[in-house]
Amino acid sequence: MRILLVEDDEALRSGLCEALEQAHFAVDALGAAEPAENALASTTYDLAIVDIGLPGIDGFELIRRVRRRGIGLPMLVLTARDSLEDRVVGLDQGADDYLVKPFDVPELLARMRALIRRSRASSGAQLNFGPLALDLTGRSATLEGEALELTGREWGVLEQLMLATPRLVTKKKLADSLSQWDKEITPNAIEIYVSRLRAKLADSGVVIRTLRGIGYRLEDAPRDA
Ligand code: CA
Repeated sequence: MRILLVEDDEALRSGLCEALEQAHFAVDALGAAEPAENALASTTYDLAIVDIGLPGIDGFELIRRVRRRGIGLPMLVLTARDSLEDRVVGLDQGADDYLVKPFDVPELLARMRALIRRSRASSGAQLNFGPLALDLTGRSATLEGEALELTGREWGVLEQLMLATPRLVTKKKLADSLSQWDKEITPNAIEIYVSRLRAKLADSGVVIRTLRGIGYRLEDAPRDA
C-alpha cells in the first residue's frame, strides 16, 4: 500500500518513513502542502498522514483543498497543538482521525490500520486465493494457515496480484505501486520480486503466470502428486 506523508520536521519525517517501510508500506514523503496537493491529485494513495503545522499552506487547508477536489482517501492528521479546537477543525475539514504529538509508532500504525480497514470495509480486509490469504489490515500473509514470511516488496507485489485477480497486473502497475520517489522500482526489479515469490509459493497450488510483455496473473496450478 502506498502512503503519502506530509511532515516538515525532517527528523520526524525520516523516522516515520523508516517505521512505515518496516511495516510494509511504500511511503512518499514531502515537507510542504503545495507539492502534497499535486501528489494527491496525480497519484492514488491508500492513506495520507498530514502534519497541521506546515510552512506556507497548513495541513487544514491542504485537507480542505483535497476534499474539494473530491479525493476521498483516508487522511490522518498529526498535530502538535493539543487543543480540542484544532482537532475539531481538522475533522471538520475532512480529516478522518488525528494523533497528537508526541505519539508512539505502534499507535500510529494501529490508527492507520483502522482507517484502512474502514475505507476497505466494503471489499473486506482479507484477500484469499486458494491456500493463500493476505490480511490487509494486520499486514500478514499465510499459506495453508502457516505464516508466510515476505519482504515489503514481495508483499506489495502479491497484494497487487491478489487485488487484481482474476485479472492480470501489468509490470508497470506493479512498479508504480511499489515505487517511492526516492527509490524508483524498475520493471526488471519486479521480475526479481516475482521470482522470489515463486520460490516461496513453490508447490502451493498457486502460481504466478507470466504474460509475456504484459504482466502477471495469479493462477491455480495442479499440485504434484
Ligand atoms: Ca510541523
